[in-house]
Amino acid sequence: MSSTASHLKLVNVTLEYPDGEGSIKALDAVDLTVRAGQMISLVGPSGSGKSSLLAAAATLVRPTHGLVLIDGTDATGLSDKDLTALRREIIGIIFQQPNLLASLTAAEQLIIGEHLRGKSVKAARAKAAEMLDVVGLGASADKRPHQLSGGQRQRVNIARALMGGPKVLLVDEPTSALDHERSDSIVRLLRRVTDEFMVATVMVTHDTEFVPLTDSVATMRDGRLTAPVLTHA
Ligand code: ADP
Ligand code: MG
Repeated sequence: MSSTASHLKLVNVTLEYPDGEGSIKALDAVDLTVRAGQMISLVGPSGSGKSSLLAAAATLVRPTHGLVLIDGTDATGLSDKDLTALRREIIGIIFQQPNLLASLTAAEQLIIGEHLRGKSVKAARAKAAEMLDVVGLGASADKRPHQLSGGQRQRVNIARALMGGPKVLLVDEPTSALDHERSDSIVRLLRRVTDEFMVATVMVTHDTEFVPLTDSVATMRDGRLTAPVLTHA
């Protein structure tokens, strides 16, 4: 459908939340294009709209105005049912807290979503093993969350987000619960999977130190986004 290989494109996106009698403009005419294999850092003060931008790109909220193009399809025109399918097939979401289920092994965390994608248990197992290898956890497939470190749990989270073969990866402060060394290796992993799987990645980070690992950086302020500036990795 899209010949431009622009996997994520926000066009003039405005998002207002109701606030008492009035409303809060969390996103104000935001434009952003992220291509396959590109990784963009999103920085800006708390409350500036970074998570709102990810939520709009993830199709978890519908913008008040504007277009959200995912792999060439305008998500703002889709039904809730189609959006659910789109998220499952094309969008990977990684939030600060891995949100793993306490009773499941690392492999099982990855396998359960595959059922919803209509995959057989056998195919799901094979894919889970492959993705755990990608994130360096091939030997920890049978461990439960409490047996893993914070960094390892975030790796499981990343592997899970990759299971459906997403074209867009949306990452909100993936390192805020981690020490410096683990943060560095998580951002490097996100860089590597962006390249390897040719996904369009947006990473919200308060840690400007990791910005050079990404291709460009855009700054959010009061719901407005600056044009991305190239970094020199
Ligand atoms: P950031 O991630 O940069 O800290 P957010 O996107 O979370 O910023 O928030 C942007 C603005 O939108 C803030 O003023 C925040 O209070 C408001 N906001 C965010 N989510 C909601 C919501 N679900 N309902 C109402 N207001 C919200
Ligand atoms: Mg936020």
